[in-house]
Amino acid sequence: MVVNGHFMTGHAGIFAGGDCIGGARTMTAATGHGKRAAREIDAYLYGQAWEHPPTPPLVTFDMLHLPDYMDATRTPQPEQPLAARTDFSEVVAGFDAPQARREAARCLSCGNCYECDNCFAACPEQAITRRGPGRGYEVSLDLCSGCAACAEQCPCHAIDMVAEPQNQPAPVGSLGEPLAPARFRVRA
Ligand SMILES: Cc1cc2nc3c(=O)[nH]c(=O)nc-3n(C[C@H](O)[C@H](O)[C@H](O)COP(=O)(O)OP(=O)(O)OC[C@H]3O[C@@H](n4cnc5c(N)ncnc54)[C@H](O)[C@@H]3O)c2cc1C
Ligand code: SF4
Ligand code: SF4
Repeated sequence: MVVNGHFMTGHAGIFAGGDCIGGARTMTAATGHGKRAAREIDAYLYGQAWEHPPTPPLVTFDMLHLPDYMDATRTPQPEQPLAARTDFSEVVAGFDAPQARREAARCLSCGNCYECDNCFAACPEQAITRRGPGRGYEVSLDLCSGCAACAEQCPCHAIDMVAEPQNQPAPVGSLGEPLAPARFRVRA
């Protein structure tokens, strides 16, 4: 099946994704297409077109703050013993719902905020406010002094500190002390 850049087929209002549009042909690709198509459909129904936000740079393992993560070993899946593998029945049993949830919770969320509140608790300037569950945080750049405490406390490197533009006045802390020239930027 042929779709355009918004996952819409040649028939206006009919969307498609997954194996039937070719490409990677994996479960993760099909699931991603479903999520993407849902956004496209929602936008379409509002008479708009959804635009994919810019993809942030890759967060690698060495960029994570590992002490913040607990050890969580992989949940073993029951398997058919070798002698029983004589037909086409499934060899690996898979997970039940609680096991699947636990496995999903092992995700390190590389580069993506999962609302752990570490930055909120670490900010000495009260520059960060909660928007509520699932809605992320708001950062007041007027209050932010660029101290980078939030970025250092973020387990998954969801916060980048970027250099202050050259023509800006040097940042100072709440007591007027000079601070490293950095400013806050939350990754998309
Ligand atoms: C043997 C095998 C092993 C695989 N192993 C892996 C793996 O280990 N990891 C991985 O990521 N991916 C794996 N894949 C790929 C993965 O299964 C597919 O990429 C994924 O299932 C695609 O999802 P989908 O929703 O696009 O399509 P499907 O899962 O194929 O779902 C399409 C659904 O539409 C239904 N349908 C079709 N025609 C009609 C119709 N006319 N009317 C109504 N319903 C209809 C079908 O019955 C089916 O339920 C494997 C695939 C195969 C075949
Ligand atoms: S960089 Fe800004 S937002 Fe982050 S902890 Fe420091 S003052 Fe707060
Ligand atoms: S940005 Fe990082 S530290 Fe702040 S809530 Fe999200 S994951 Fe936690």
